[in-house]
Amino acid sequence: MTAPSLRAEALRAEINDHNYRYYVLDAPLVSDAAYDKLMNELIELEQAHPALITSESPTQRVGAEPLSAFDSVRHAVPMRSLGNAFDAEDVHAFSKRVFDTLHGAGMASAEEQVPYVAELKFDGLAVSLRYEDGRLVRAATRGDGQVGENITSNIRTLRSVPLKLKGDYPPVLEVRGEVLMNRQDFEKLNQAQQARGEKVFVNPRNAAAGSLRQLDPRITAKRPLRFYAYGWGEIRIVHNGQTELFGQESGSADMPCKTHAQMLDWLQTLGMPVNGSRKLVYGAQGLLDFYEHIGSTRTALPFDIDGVVYKVDSLEAQEVLGYVARAPRFAIAHKFPAQEETTRLLGIEVQV
Ligand code: NAD
Repeated sequence: MTAPSLRAEALRAEINDHNYRYYVLDAPLVSDAAYDKLMNELIELEQAHPALITSESPTQRVGAEPLSAFDSVRHAVPMRSLGNAFDAEDVHAFSKRVFDTLHGAGMASAEEQVPYVAELKFDGLAVSLRYEDGRLVRAATRGDGQVGENITSNIRTLRSVPLKLKGDYPPVLEVRGEVLMNRQDFEKLNQAQQARGEKVFVNPRNAAAGSLRQLDPRITAKRPLRFYAYGWGEIRIVHNGQTELFGQESGSADMPCKTHAQMLDWLQTLGMPVNGSRKLVYGAQGLLDFYEHIGSTRTALPFDIDGVVYKVDSLEAQEVLGYVARAPRFAIAHKFPAQEETTRLLGIEVQV
């Protein structure tokens, strides 16, 4: 074996182990920044030596296999991850890639005019909520992106999740979003856990994940979890008297809305909580201005975010851009520099 292939193998084993601890056991050993470094090294190694890429590589897959204690749920539309940008240069490269593809398809004439929705990147746990005839029938974790855990009874205990949709809902709607815990609620929970001599959580994300993935929903019911919607999976609408499938990957042009911003507004009218800190912006400069603004005001938010997310606004453009193995090409997460790594270096155990 060559040196790069040995290194790739070692990185894969280490990353898979961290994935298992983080996604399945809710007990990470290392900071997210340390994890991101390993992942980036593997991505760069695979880019330099494409022959090393295997379909099992963690760069090609999301999350980890679901815990067998829960029933499993196969997602009708996969739940993917997001590519990452760590600096302005990465954002410019993303904007250029998007523009080049859209320009080639005759869908954009100037890079600085491409519209995006910029959103918060909630630091919680991705879930998919399935509504049939307006009623919540199933909720699942992302799991490995194809198969997640059935957490319906637990999700039903969240007050922010409607059990019944309002207004003119479609026959089938899968809403995707994030379950999280506000910082204040997290601190109170930890104090109560400590007073009872029970497990203390390392951060709000970890507390949210541990609380949601409880086998006894009565425990989940006592935990202050919140939900924000930011996307969708399978949707079936009635069109010309027929029920018809459409969604991000169905290829149907018959969307109830034409843009991501309209979709979020629509979800809100159906009763889904959608966070207000989202903005329609244009081109790389618009993205970077949003990042600056949110970065300087994020401590005023009641919950943790680990960055912002940019999504091409036009749904037609999203379809043209499509997907790579584990992430859409029309969206990217722009991460904030890690604070937790610094505190760990200072020897403080609790992450911020
Ligand atoms: P990710 O967290 O980088 O990005 C994808 C996720 O972002 C989605 O699944 C969704 O849950 C979330 N998200 C939040 N706001 C969103 C929005 N507005 N729109 C769309 N999605 C939104 O990807 P990932 O694959 O879940 O995990 C990778 C990250 O998890 C790593 O970068 C690392 O920080 C962390 N991680 C840490 C460890 C560890 O051991 N410390 C292990 C595995 C993963």
